[in-house]
Order: sequence, then C-alpha cells, then structure tokens
Amino acid sequence: MKVLVINSGSSSIKYQLFDMTDKTVLAAGLLERIGESASRLTHHSRNEQGEMAKIVKTQAVANHQAGFQLIGAVLNESGAVRDSGELYCIGHRVVHGGEKFREPTLINREVIETIRQLIPLAPLHNPPNLLGIEVALAAAPQVPQVAVFDTAFHQSIRPWAFRYALPQNLYEDHQVRRYGFHGTSHCYVAKQAARHLNRPLDSLNLITLHLGNGASVTAIENGRSIDTSMGMTPLEGLIMGTRSGDIDPAIIFYLGSQVGYALDEVESLLNKQSGLKGICGVNDMREIGQRADKEDKAAKLAIEMYCYRIKKYIGAYYAALGRVDALVFTGGIGENAAAIRSRCCEGLSRLSIEIDEDENNIQSKAIHEIQRVKMAVKILAIPTNEELEIAEQTVERIKAGS
Ligand code: ADP
Repeated sequence: MKVLVINSGSSSIKYQLFDMTDKTVLAAGLLERIGESASRLTHHSRNEQGEMAKIVKTQAVANHQAGFQLIGAVLNESGAVRDSGELYCIGHRVVHGGEKFREPTLINREVIETIRQLIPLAPLHNPPNLLGIEVALAAAPQVPQVAVFDTAFHQSIRPWAFRYALPQNLYEDHQVRRYGFHGTSHCYVAKQAARHLNRPLDSLNLITLHLGNGASVTAIENGRSIDTSMGMTPLEGLIMGTRSGDIDPAIIFYLGSQVGYALDEVESLLNKQSGLKGICGVNDMREIGQRADKEDKAAKLAIEMYCYRIKKYIGAYYAALGRVDALVFTGGIGENAAAIRSRCCEGLSRLSIEIDEDENNIQSKAIHEIQRVKMAVKILAIPTNEELEIAEQTVERIKAGS
C-alpha cells in the first residue's frame, strides 16, 4: 500500500513514499530552490537489494508544477512509483486549518476553497501548501488526497486557554485566537509515549516538547491537547532558532515609535533575526553548544535563556494539568541534545521530574527513558516522524470513507 506524503513550501517540496503495510520508507526527497536557476532535487529510494540509493538532479525548476513533474519523473526513474495509479492515497501537510478543520480532511474543491479562505491566517504557509495540493490533484486526479493540518490536534483547547484578553470582536470577526502548531508532531510522540508506557493514550497526561528550529510545548490531558505555547502564529512561546517567542507586545510600539522600525521590519526581526540567533549570532544548537563549551558568553546566555523559558512552560503546564505522567522531548534538539534536556529539568525534583544523567547521555535513535528510577514523572526522548503520522492519518481518513 503506497502512500505519498507531500510538504510543499514556498521554495521547496519535501516528500516521502511509504509502504503502509509495514510502514517502511520506499523513497524520500527534497526539491530546493524552486524558481531559481539551479534548483536541486535530492532523492533517495530503495533499490532492488533493499538499500537506499541516491539520485541528485540540479537544473532550473521554474515553479511548483515543474517541480512536481520532476519529482514524478524521478519517482518513475527510480522505480518507486511507475504510475500514479499505484498510489493508495496522497497526504498533504497544511499548516493552518483555522477553526474549520479539526480532523484530516478528504480534499475536494470546497476544501480547497476553505483552505484558501484561511490564507490571511498563514500568508506564508498556506499558499504553497495549496499549490502543492492543486498540482498533485491535477497530476493524479484519480488518487484520493487528504489534508492534514498542523493546527488540528490543538482544536481540543478550550476558550480560556485559546482566547487572548482582547476585545471579543477580534475573535468573532477576525479569528484572533491561539491555534497552535506542530500538532502532527505532538500527536505522534504522544501516541508513541502511550505505546512505550503501555497505557491507553486517553488515560495519559503529558507535556510534549518539540524542540527543533521552531519549538513548541503542549499540555496533553487524557490524550488531548489542552494548551500549547505557539499562538495565532508560530511566533509565540518558546525561544526558537530565529523567532523570539514570548515578548512584551509593547516592544513593537517602542521599536516603531522610538527606534524607527517599519511594521514589516519588526515582523522580519521577530521571525528571522531573534531567538537563539538574536542572542548569540547563530541559530544552530550544535554550534551554540560548542561555543558555550569554549566559554563564549553570548552562547552560554542563549542556552540559559532557552532552557529557562522551557522550564517556565513545564511549570505552567504542570499546574494546568495537575498530574503529569510523562515529559516528552522531541525535535532535533529534544532528541539529541542531552545537556539541554538536563538543564530544562534542573531543580524540578519536587515536581518528581529528575533526569538520570547516565541514561540521558546514551545516544540513541530509539525511544529512550531517561528519568531517575522511582520518579513519578517519566522523561522520554522520542524521535518524531511527522511524515509517518501524516501517512497514518491519511490512510485512516480514507478507510473511514466519505
Ligand atoms: P526543523 O525544525 O528544521 O525540522 P530539527 O528538528 O532538525 O529542525 O532541529 C534542528 C536543531 O536541532 C538545530 O538547532 C540543530 O543544531 C539541533 N540538533 C541536531 N542534532 C543535535 C545534537 N546532536 N546536539 C544538539 N543540537 C542538535
């Protein structure tokens, strides 16, 4: 059962092809720099010996349509998909589903129009997601396609946690509220945690920390999201690679009236020049760690600020949940950076959160339990797999029928 997952961004298309009978990856690829003279497609797929073989194509790819044609040709050339009729279904990542989409949704014209109406909420993300959907539908009209939304998992959040303390009409007329993102990842690691702990997900209270370039934390009560750190946009919450996360909103007025920034410059500053990069000049946590080891003050401060912010959210969500069964670390930093995990949990033993350093320092690609024995709160490092989650949700949606 071949299932293709597509993540179509503004200048790139990522894809993975799964055999969902055993959940193996048959092919995966990334087309970058669409619209530039030297676009690059890096494709991996399983050859007849079962090994992953690599194909690289560097050529001009003018637009997403040409991009999908190239991906189709490479899927064919590598033998991964000879004909689109081999596909059971296609799953598309869509960033913003607003309040309209609480579940993975079978794509038809009406759904496309609704996603289009949500563009003002995600002007950078929803247009290229839509483009991916349109081009894939045109190329494979007979294959059922499903949209899986980053926001959907958080639609269980109740008004006291999703509303901002702003006039009601801004919510009712302009959809100003917290939506949350990374839902597919939070959902995936929550299910993995339940499987690992051998407990039903709907009996578990979790705090899941997705720490990648973007970062967010979610409070999960009985398997459902009840709060999350990203807000109406992915800018709110934790300190990220280049995003500030929480700041006093009055800083924006100060930057405008006293420092001379235009509104679009402030937007770019907060999204692209802030976070870890703003504090110490680089946004890659590995490099920041290396600099901190050499006593670079800015890098050390960046790590302290990063972990302190996370710790504050752990405390807040502990209070929101009342009982926490497990803390879950995921994303490039959450899965790999033992020192960061350790610092985020420092001083929390009264909350029954304490890391076993020996366990924490074991490098592992598998689910990994790292709390001290006897601590009531399990601490897990779980590799995320958003593409597999999209594939699973897509198949479930198709099987559920229309
Ligand atoms: P994205 O959000 O783009 O998918 P990732 O989840 O891959 O990003 O996370 C990228 C971050 O993970 C980078 O800051 C990178 O430095 C960090 N990272 C990856 N491996 C390690 C490691 N071994 N130690 C520390 N940080 C790591």
